[in-house]
Amino acid sequence: MSEEEKVSAWKQWKKNLGEARPWHLFDPVLRTTEDIAALRYNLCKGCEHFISATTQCTKCGCIMKAKTLLKNAECPVGKWGRDLTPSS
Ligand code: SF4
Repeated sequence: MSEEEKVSAWKQWKKNLGEARPWHLFDPVLRTTEDIAALRYNLCKGCEHFISATTQCTKCGCIMKAKTLLKNAECPVGKWGRDLTPSS
């Protein structure tokens, strides 16, 4: 993989994450509720882009058990969105 391809892949990965970042998993304010995460994950499980063996999405490359917990995460093809409820 060339340097240009590596930069492009990195930019695409960041774009796929939207405003969510993996380290948000460690911040309770930036995590969604277990109920919302379960609803999102169930949508992923029924999606044609879901790889059940790894629980990854072929569109964003993310591990969906983790990504669905992120408040600001969103599906790259619009099947579920950010959790806009105010944090308590
Ligand atoms: S994030 Fe979206 S595209 Fe990816 S597996 Fe889930 S529902 Fe499908």
